Amino acid sequence: MNRRDFLQRFFPTAVLATGGPMSLVGCKSFDNWFFQLERGIKDRVLIVGGGIAGLNLAFELKKKGIPFQILEGSARLGGRIYSLEHFNASEQKAELGAEWFSDSDQNLKNLAKELKIELQVDRRIASDQFFFTGDQWIPQARLEKEIQILYQQLAKIGLQKSDRELDLMPLSNLFKLMNPTTTKVSDVALMWLERVVQKRWGADPVEISGLFIMRWLDVIGPKPLRTLAQSNTRVTGGSSVLINALHDRLVGILPQEVLRLKHELIQVSYPTADPKGPVELTFQSPQGQFQVQTMDAVLCLPMAKLRLVKGLTSESFSGPLSAPISQLGLGRTSKIVASYKQKFWRQRLNFLMGLGTLSAQSIWDATPEGSDSLKATRGLISIQMGGQHSFQINPNSANVILNEFQSGIGDQEKQQPENIHVHNWTTYPWTQGSNFFFRPGQFLKWSKLDWNPLPDGSLRIAGDFLDPMAGGRLEASLQSSISVAQLIYEKRQILKKKSTGSV
Ligand SMILES: Cc1cc2nc3c(=O)[nH]c(=O)nc-3n(C[C@H](O)[C@H](O)[C@H](O)COP(=O)(O)OP(=O)(O)OC[C@H]3O[C@@H](n4cnc5c(N)ncnc54)[C@H](O)[C@@H]3O)c2cc1C
Repeated sequence: MNRRDFLQRFFPTAVLATGGPMSLVGCKSFDNWFFQLERGIKDRVLIVGGGIAGLNLAFELKKKGIPFQILEGSARLGGRIYSLEHFNASEQKAELGAEWFSDSDQNLKNLAKELKIELQVDRRIASDQFFFTGDQWIPQARLEKEIQILYQQLAKIGLQKSDRELDLMPLSNLFKLMNPTTTKVSDVALMWLERVVQKRWGADPVEISGLFIMRWLDVIGPKPLRTLAQSNTRVTGGSSVLINALHDRLVGILPQEVLRLKHELIQVSYPTADPKGPVELTFQSPQGQFQVQTMDAVLCLPMAKLRLVKGLTSESFSGPLSAPISQLGLGRTSKIVASYKQKFWRQRLNFLMGLGTLSAQSIWDATPEGSDSLKATRGLISIQMGGQHSFQINPNSANVILNEFQSGIGDQEKQQPENIHVHNWTTYPWTQGSNFFFRPGQFLKWSKLDWNPLPDGSLRIAGDFLDPMAGGRLEASLQSSISVAQLIYEKRQILKKKSTGSV
């Protein structure tokens, strides 16, 4: 009997949904739930949030032989990894969240190997990106040259202004400084940077720290188009394959032992006022509220949800973390996916990614080369909107954007999408935003923040905001979950040695 048959036979309410496993809440064994939690939690690590950070943390703990329990607020696993299955008649999946990963992310490669998941790299290169200014297409080589001038101007400004001044300055003010009468940075280069910021952070130039963006450009190096094009790895079969495989490895045949859906964390406190003592977490579940005390809890939540957890933002509770948790900027991102009977754009443009003034700030071919979905003739287009424009997205505006794209590439024949799906991550209740960013003045204060300041404390944090540069990406979530698992392992080793008297 396989796991699915087992579940259906013994836990009829536990339907394995397309987007991930569904709640077991409501099944008979729920009566034992509080008891199990009370009994077992003392030595278990309580993981809050079942996105990639929470699930990978659980996987790391499992490999180290440390017991855990995952409590997820929504009715599905995966968080910002969200693949819509059976999106069209060719059974293609549409990605509403994370889709492209860095081909240098060793943690992802290791995980895929352990889970026996295939990653596929799209071999198309930077020249398959396009940039559209509204009235002309900018060739890659010209865009690269314009970006070089932008880099030179930024370097000059970097010498004239202090880091503090640059941090206090929004990127939009830097744009103004870069356009003196002498070496004028082209509008194309500035627009390119604006689009990158909107896509990457869901923020507008007027609200993001200038210094933060300068530092990020430094990190990605002098050939940003090439560096960005290296995020060209996808999970074969869709990003949710990763989530489903982790789920299968973690829950075994007794899912209620390790996983509960529809359990939302609403409050944290230290009953003994000692951060090394037990931490108490209050959850809201369909059965009501309950409290759990544990010596190890890890919150794997997006920034916008973390800030809503009562207690966490109070100075007395989280000290240096309380200000950034409540004040960092929150990105706004919407995504549209559209399915067409044919990949009509391939006759005009062999593009991977486009940015520009099309009202879709970024648009890409979601049926890339080398993909299994190539077997199908159907094609998918993804569109992402960030910052203030993300709120303009709805099925009507999606149609307008798609038409605009078609006329932009010179396709006269009207192509009708057979299916369109729109997802706004800001109004999605379980993330209420997409990414975090540093507002003016925040980068110098918080970029070096230690999000887990007490190595032997009972409450920890993991997630994609822990790395200021790779932040808001899967690689940051994976890395932070690996680091937290290691911290917990080391803490337990020390405690074990103490209890056996070997130290
Ligand atoms: C549109 C979009 C496109 C993206 N594209 C890419 C990409 O191409 N490449 C890339 O690397 N990254 C991309 N990302 C970012 C990537 O999706 C995230 O960095 C990553 O998935 C975050 O994982 P996480 O587990 O840290 O957080 P999440 O995935 O947000 O998981 C957090 C979990 O916590 C749950 N939760 C929330 N509140 C509570 C609560 N109070 N109690 C209990 N549970 C709660 C949520 O339901 C969720 O399951 C994209 C993100 C978006 C929004």
